Amino acid sequence: MSDFLQLTGMIKGEVRYSVPMSDYTSFRVGGQVDCLVYPADVPDLQNILSWGNQQGVRPFILGNGTNLLVRDGGIRGMAISLSRGFRQIEEAGRGPEETLIFAAAGGPLGNLVDFSSEKGLTGLEFAAGIPGTVGGAIYMNAGAFRGEMKEVLHSVKLMDSAGQVSEKESKALKFSYRAMELGKGEIILGGQFQLKEGNGQQIQAKIEENIRRRKAKQPWDLPSAGSVFKNPDGGPAGRFIEEAGLKGCRIGDAQVSEKHANFIVNRGKAKAKDILTLVEKVREKVFQEKGVWLKLEIQVVGED
Ligand SMILES: Cc1cc2nc3c(=O)[nH]c(=O)nc-3n(C[C@H](O)[C@H](O)[C@H](O)COP(=O)(O)OP(=O)(O)OC[C@H]3O[C@@H](n4cnc5c(N)ncnc54)[C@H](O)[C@@H]3O)c2cc1C
Repeated sequence: MSDFLQLTGMIKGEVRYSVPMSDYTSFRVGGQVDCLVYPADVPDLQNILSWGNQQGVRPFILGNGTNLLVRDGGIRGMAISLSRGFRQIEEAGRGPEETLIFAAAGGPLGNLVDFSSEKGLTGLEFAAGIPGTVGGAIYMNAGAFRGEMKEVLHSVKLMDSAGQVSEKESKALKFSYRAMELGKGEIILGGQFQLKEGNGQQIQAKIEENIRRRKAKQPWDLPSAGSVFKNPDGGPAGRFIEEAGLKGCRIGDAQVSEKHANFIVNRGKAKAKDILTLVEKVREKVFQEKGVWLKLEIQVVGED
């Protein structure tokens, strides 16, 4: 613990100690992380990684915490948030039919959607209302309404664990359903998005329609981390869960949403353990009833 104190004063950004992850995740659960660091810029992040390498500390990269379940024992070591120093969005190139927009990893995905819409650029409407950061959306290959990040991503700016920055075209990277492969210790610094000229009013109308559809289908009034399970072959996970009679099923304050069966909501004081117990209960019942073993979409990190 005391070693982490060295970070204060060593970097330009902020360092916080013994931070409850329940304040940084949309599930509102999770124990403390020893140290949460906000690098101010690229050299700051390089300093943090170099210090971590000397100490043998491998950082956890925190986005907006909207796809995360942190266990009740919290995270030993260091979490890094790019939400302060890595937020810029700018035009990176314009061709006759397509425009490249660069968005840094730590800013909200919603800002990128709005920026593109204001410029009359189409392609990112599907992402409206996904509550993560740009980096989290790239890493999760976030998607909705038949769109996903890899379809609009031209290239990704990365930093490796030694602090080297590189740019990789997205076709050289491996994306799959709600996942992307990163090298060990690699951090996404941002991405270039390839968008087409469109009609500003139609783009805005589509964004508003997608947000309306989300609010109608999803339990936005209670803490959750979005879809808990990936959709298996054969249909949406929510349908399997509903057909297995699990809507409303509750362990402590963790409950399978009455509104959307693939969401688990925190009705107040749920612990990560309650959510994980409910996850296992749902998996086993769906397997018994439907013969399908559901795979997790949410990322589970930290200690019991
Ligand atoms: C109400 C609600 C609705 C949702 N709807 C959708 C939806 O329609 N579609 C969808 O796909 N998802 C949805 N989600 C889930 C979530 O918003 C997305 O997965 C989002 O992309 C996660 O981004 P984040 O910044 O919150 O990442 P986090 O949850 O903070 O992190 C997720 C993973 O990404 C990694 N990561 C984050 N940033 C970086 C980085 N810069 N470099 C390397 N790794 C990084 C983290 O280490 C972690 O493993 C929803 C969630 C909620 C709460």
